[in-house]
Amino acid sequence: MPLNENLFLTGLRCPRALWLEVKTNAKKSNFKTVSLNDTEEKKFIAKAAQKLFPNGLSCRIGENFELNAIETQQQIHGCPKQPIFDAFVQFNGTEAFCDILFPDPCKTDFWHMIKVMAAARLMRRHINDLAMTWHIFNSSGINISRSMLAFVDTSYTRNGDLDPEKLFKLLDVTPQVWATLPRVPQILETQQDVLLSPNEPLIFPGAHCLKPSPCSFVDSCWTALTPQDRSKAVQGVGWRDVKPLIQEGYLDLTLLSEISGIRIPKASLLEAAATKTPIINKEAIKKHLDKLVYPLHFLDFETIAPAAPIFSGTSPFETIPAQASLHIVKTPGDWSEPLHFEFITSGNTDPRPEIAQFLTSFVKAEGSIVAYNAKFEYSVLAGLAVHLPMLREALRGMMARLWDLYTPFQKGHFIHPDFRAGFSLKAIAPILAPEINYRNLKIQDGLKASIALFKLFINHDDQSKKNQLMKDLKTYCAMDTLALVQITKRLKNTFQQA
Ligand code: SF4
Repeated sequence: MPLNENLFLTGLRCPRALWLEVKTNAKKSNFKTVSLNDTEEKKFIAKAAQKLFPNGLSCRIGENFELNAIETQQQIHGCPKQPIFDAFVQFNGTEAFCDILFPDPCKTDFWHMIKVMAAARLMRRHINDLAMTWHIFNSSGINISRSMLAFVDTSYTRNGDLDPEKLFKLLDVTPQVWATLPRVPQILETQQDVLLSPNEPLIFPGAHCLKPSPCSFVDSCWTALTPQDRSKAVQGVGWRDVKPLIQEGYLDLTLLSEISGIRIPKASLLEAAATKTPIINKEAIKKHLDKLVYPLHFLDFETIAPAAPIFSGTSPFETIPAQASLHIVKTPGDWSEPLHFEFITSGNTDPRPEIAQFLTSFVKAEGSIVAYNAKFEYSVLAGLAVHLPMLREALRGMMARLWDLYTPFQKGHFIHPDFRAGFSLKAIAPILAPEINYRNLKIQDGLKASIALFKLFINHDDQSKKNQLMKDLKTYCAMDTLALVQITKRLKNTFQQA
């Protein structure tokens, strides 16, 4: 398997991860490592940036890298005065890709390269990526004289058609790339050697496994560690980075004694872990539950936050609600049969007016609105209220009635050892509402829901694919609000009637 930019960056993080990725079918850990940058959004934003260069020629003639590489050489040498899009090259067992090349106006047969990022700021890995790409392009006979990154400008607001001149900021990073370039051939050689070896490199796990997100091979490396080695591996690592490992069961809660920056009272967490019994502040939970007012509305939104705004009046990364699920328990006697209402975008228009209409039609004039981590629902309702002045009063009324089911867990009033120090809805539902099961759903978390929703907006051709996505999204979002219903019911039965 040839090296490419992704493998190069993986190998820079850890040679063992590179070896495992290429040479084995090692089980990958169940972390949420899918990022929007890996998906269709990356292609969408690259296409938007290519509009900065009229008359460009795309070298993508299919999914076969070698054919695309041949096409790239033909375009480069056949049309040396035109911008080139989606350029592929191979050299010495390494593949590289560039979104945009355009002729150097001062130097014949030299090119400026641009990589498009669905991001707003420069990171070290962007420079490493560009340095590797520059090296492979130069080595394959395409001379590069300047390298740039196209970032999105978050101050841009779309007005009508997408304006690539205003959406993108081009950042010339040639000096930083030059500084890295001399190291690239040696790194690639070392990585090729790693891949030629029949044995995996021995690397002791540590902070590099966890930042910026957990490595896919934590399962292979961390489960084999002794308790002492695990404790050594997390030394100096912050709570935020360690948390996913605890939640997935790779680390024991007792390790928390060595971690700083934990928001939940650490002593309670440790006590719950040591005694294997829940730590419960009944009075505090009851006091919170007493604030609930019938009819109870259980609300959840699914949103997108595209780097390139899809709708007029929106900015990069602005949160756009595109789906909502609402369960309603009208009276104390209705818990077993809550009413259910839902909205999902068709993907053809700005969903905000429709979703606001949905809310104002189905949310009653009074009663609590239950959400999990209600700050999010509050911000979505606030965004809708700004965008839709006609419905502002009604939406603001809903904001004032939000009741947060997250509060007892966030404040440490209910700590169960099996939460594994995680207090997301998905972490607490299996313990407090075991009848709720996400495992068999096609969409199992908010990030995947967001990716699926984005696809609804950009794939206009395949209606049957859209119908399937909508069905999967509805099932997922309804499961979230049903989990809210069941957990609230359980808390009320346990703490209000005690
Ligand atoms: S878990 Fe850590 S040591 Fe293992 S492959 Fe990943 S980064 Fe390397």
